[in-house]
Amino acid sequence: MMRQYELVERVRAYDPDADEAKLNRAYVYAMMKHGSQKRASGDPYFSHPLEVAGILTRLRLDVDSIVTALLHDTIEDTDATLEEIEKLFGKSVARLVNGVTKLSQIELKSSESKQAENFRKLVLAMSEDIRVLLVKLADRLHNMQTLHYIPKIEKRQRIAQETLDIYAPLAERIGMHDVKDELEDLAFAQLYPDVRDSILTRLAFLRDNGGTLKEEIIAKLKADLQAAHIDATVYGREKKPFSIWRKMRSKNITLEQLSDIMAFRVTVESTAQCYAALGTIHSTYQIVPGRFKDYISLPKPNGYQSLHTTIIGPKNHRIEVQIRTQDMHEVAELGVAAHWVYKQQNDKEANETKQYKWLRDLLEILEQASDPEEFLEHTKLAMFDDQVFCFSPKGDLIALPRGSTPVDFAYAVHSAVGDACTGARVNGRIVPLKTALQNGDQVEIITQKGHQPSPSWEKFVVSARAKAHIRRFVRTQQRDQYIELGKGLIDKAFKDFEKDYTETQLESVLSKFNVKHREDLYVAIGEGHFSGREVAVSIYPDIIKQEREQREENALDALLQKKPVAPKTSAYHLPITGLIPGMAVHYAKCCHPIRGDKIVGLIVMGKGVTVHTEDCHNLKAFKDKPERFIDVAWEGTAQQDAATIARLKISLENATGALGTMCALVGQARANIHNMKIAHRTTDHFDILLDVEVDNTEHLTSVMAILRAHRSVHAIERIKN
Ligand code: MN
Repeated sequence: MMRQYELVERVRAYDPDADEAKLNRAYVYAMMKHGSQKRASGDPYFSHPLEVAGILTRLRLDVDSIVTALLHDTIEDTDATLEEIEKLFGKSVARLVNGVTKLSQIELKSSESKQAENFRKLVLAMSEDIRVLLVKLADRLHNMQTLHYIPKIEKRQRIAQETLDIYAPLAERIGMHDVKDELEDLAFAQLYPDVRDSILTRLAFLRDNGGTLKEEIIAKLKADLQAAHIDATVYGREKKPFSIWRKMRSKNITLEQLSDIMAFRVTVESTAQCYAALGTIHSTYQIVPGRFKDYISLPKPNGYQSLHTTIIGPKNHRIEVQIRTQDMHEVAELGVAAHWVYKQQNDKEANETKQYKWLRDLLEILEQASDPEEFLEHTKLAMFDDQVFCFSPKGDLIALPRGSTPVDFAYAVHSAVGDACTGARVNGRIVPLKTALQNGDQVEIITQKGHQPSPSWEKFVVSARAKAHIRRFVRTQQRDQYIELGKGLIDKAFKDFEKDYTETQLESVLSKFNVKHREDLYVAIGEGHFSGREVAVSIYPDIIKQEREQREENALDALLQKKPVAPKTSAYHLPITGLIPGMAVHYAKCCHPIRGDKIVGLIVMGKGVTVHTEDCHNLKAFKDKPERFIDVAWEGTAQQDAATIARLKISLENATGALGTMCALVGQARANIHNMKIAHRTTDHFDILLDVEVDNTEHLTSVMAILRAHRSVHAIERIKN
């Protein structure tokens, strides 16, 4: 096990200003927290975080990353808390440890490849700080290095497969080629030991057969370059078994057919020399067409730069050659880590959150990319910011636009699930349907057979799919409501004229209203294009005359009796959405709905819509007439001020000053007394009906809470009916 001073020395070797005390504190803290815990290998558990920290020193990461590596398993596996870590090591470390912990808690259950891609995106999206991902990758690397100690083969295979599907591609994406190669090789050894062995045997055979082939090629290339006055370091390596196997599978070829199993790297001093070296090599050897790539003028999205070419090299072997400068080489080996270390050295004063935003870093690199392939990568990366990834209870991963709600999730699962959605549990807790989902949330949709989508959902859903479904539903539902309303208006018009009518009569006048079917006539009237009266008149043309006579008579009556003629209905604007435009609306007198109450609209024939609280007793009578109900909601947020009146029944002690105290308490809650009535009075208490003006239900709740808390108040309840 690495000693405390060794770790500190390693960090100080690349960062002389490193906060030594912090490293020492973290070392001791993690060691004490993990105490006597053991790993599967039998080693003390603490050896694991220590090794992870060691891996990160090779990437030359900053002190906070090393400290995070030491602490990365303390929250999950010991009694350490985030608060304690923040107190001891500061906000930045606490944030990083929290990030790594959260990343370790998500788990992919499905093995579909599409799921793997989503899962990789989720991991990236959750690693707000690139260092979180770097620690996680180092953690995975050490776990893979010690994988053989895990006794259960299923578990070993699951971890190895996950490494191939998720973590190796992530390491590659951020340019950590060494880490990627090692992860792949370890996973390969676990999953396909026989295949790997036979490839290794074949490689060993080629090596023996060729004797010093690699060295000879290196010497020849060096000499060629020296003749052109280019000072270069040449390094040769065999390709890794896993990448050989991948190539064999994707190209469907045998190991014998695979010719370029050797790759050579030429490192020179400057970019200009890269091209000079390329020119020398191309003019000396025959190139293999279609294999040349210039990643210097067009760097890869992860910042990788190099010239790649394949030639029929010395000794007539097909070899791949990569040419780069020392700086480019560092980026190639360390990937974003190198870029990040570089950034850190250069803007020490820059504000921390800006400095560490990995996405910013990557996007900066991407902005320089210009070919279509790279542009695509760019767009994909930018997408992570607009997406949120959630799990179904079965572990399926679903990608949604950022800001999506459980309703969006339900429609993404299936339109039938969306339509029947009545509620949702997120991470096991019931939440409002408009809750914005977070990365990694597990979402369970509660459905009810025959339930219908609510038009009010349209206001908060984000995904196009959910929007389209709800809109289509609202359109057909509105048509049903217009039909109902149109019918009612026609009924009423005939009733007013004291006439009867038949459906056949209606059919006979359809053409006068430019419609083909009776239902269309109802809709036209419901929508207000024509009035019920016009229909009645079209069937009984002389009723107009009769009506005029009647009206004159009425006016005369009114004049004689001096009764004011009241307007029949009044349409005024209420702060409610979901109503059919132009339809008259009233608040129900029975339940006095106030802002914040759950409400529902009831179509009343010839009267328009009355708005009731959802639990109003009077609605029971309409239970079997769902077509009479309209989904409505309060406009804007519940916090918006629009005073409404609620009725309270208060049982109050009959004592001097009790009534005054009650009024003062209402005032204290910033509510206004609108009306007050003593309903019942005995020697020891009053029953008072109090109408108070409040902003919304929340306000009402606080008024009631203040009153309830006072000793002279025996009981308090809200009266709805
Ligand atoms: Mn770990």
